[in-house]
Amino acid sequence: MRKHIFNAGPCKLSDSLLKNSAEAVLELNGIGQSLIEVSHRSKDFQAVMDETVELMKEVLSIPEGYSVLFLGGGASLQFAMIPYNFMKSKAFYVNTGTWSSKAIKEAKLWGEVVEVSSKDKNFTYYPKGYEIPKDVDYVHVTSNNTIAGTESFEDLDVNVPLISDMSSDFLSRPVDVSKYAMIYGGAQKNLGPAGATFIIIKDDFLNKVVADRPIPSMLQYGIHVDKGSMYNTPPVFNIFAIRETLRWVKSMGGVTAMEKLAKDRADLLYNAIDESNMFESPINKEDRSRMNIVFVMKEQYKALEADFIAFAGERNCVGIKGHRSVGGFRASTYNASTIEDVQALVQAMKDFEAKNA
Ligand code: PMP
Repeated sequence: MRKHIFNAGPCKLSDSLLKNSAEAVLELNGIGQSLIEVSHRSKDFQAVMDETVELMKEVLSIPEGYSVLFLGGGASLQFAMIPYNFMKSKAFYVNTGTWSSKAIKEAKLWGEVVEVSSKDKNFTYYPKGYEIPKDVDYVHVTSNNTIAGTESFEDLDVNVPLISDMSSDFLSRPVDVSKYAMIYGGAQKNLGPAGATFIIIKDDFLNKVVADRPIPSMLQYGIHVDKGSMYNTPPVFNIFAIRETLRWVKSMGGVTAMEKLAKDRADLLYNAIDESNMFESPINKEDRSRMNIVFVMKEQYKALEADFIAFAGERNCVGIKGHRSVGGFRASTYNASTIEDVQALVQAMKDFEAKNA
């Protein structure tokens, strides 16, 4: 039986991705070679790459003047590549938790970081209404905080280049790409298996704002754009799987449909948390993530947390243990999660509460 998977990434993926990728690993397009045997420079693989890039542009309504890349190294390598390429002297970072803190650490290697942060309340809210200095090279935000459980649903209007780490809410809502100089993330949540990084970068930004320092070839965005993500051997399996996700998202009604599903799933779970006498959400209501639903047990029930994880496991709900830095629970409800998955978890919460409260 397929479990109700609430893992934070790697995470639940669509059935069509699993089935079609498995078949392509056995044989691609009836050509007598596996997807992972065929040359990445063959016409069969080039067709996969081209369709994946086109689908990204279509599904996310990416305007003219942007390039789409699929590279290795994870979002974590982007934390380093961004300042390496684009930080001349100063950048602005919105610090909303573990991942943005890691991005800031890399940026500090190359210049001054001006920071606004929600650390004062343990990252349980998303900062708003701050001033951005005019002389920064770029602004960096993390749209969804996978560990802290906060999310911003806004595409900011700023008059400096805007960069967003969308690792964990990519494709879960329509995004006005024209407001961004760059959007990036690790694929292993809403887009596909772990091992590929997606990058959407504005050609104008790439061409004009490059820091004055020697940059190794593999770390230059310009080279990857010129070579169509094939400067070196790209993650071929992952790109195929990403294509399957994009085909699936399109067939389901696109990002608008994904947003509705995300709201329905999150409302169902947050309502159950808010109505419960045993569970509670520590997150500021308007900033609650639709993708990573963080909740805890009320003080008097804290000793029962491990018991609840075991109980949920018996109901086939897996992956709900909170991140070690936060504790409690985290149910990650990405695009491929269904209402039925969330209903199973809500039922487990209700039954556990009835038995133990
Ligand atoms: N940013 C965010 C928001 C993440 O959730 C993660 C991983 N969970 C990362 C960056 C790091 O991604 P990677 O493991 O692909 O380097």
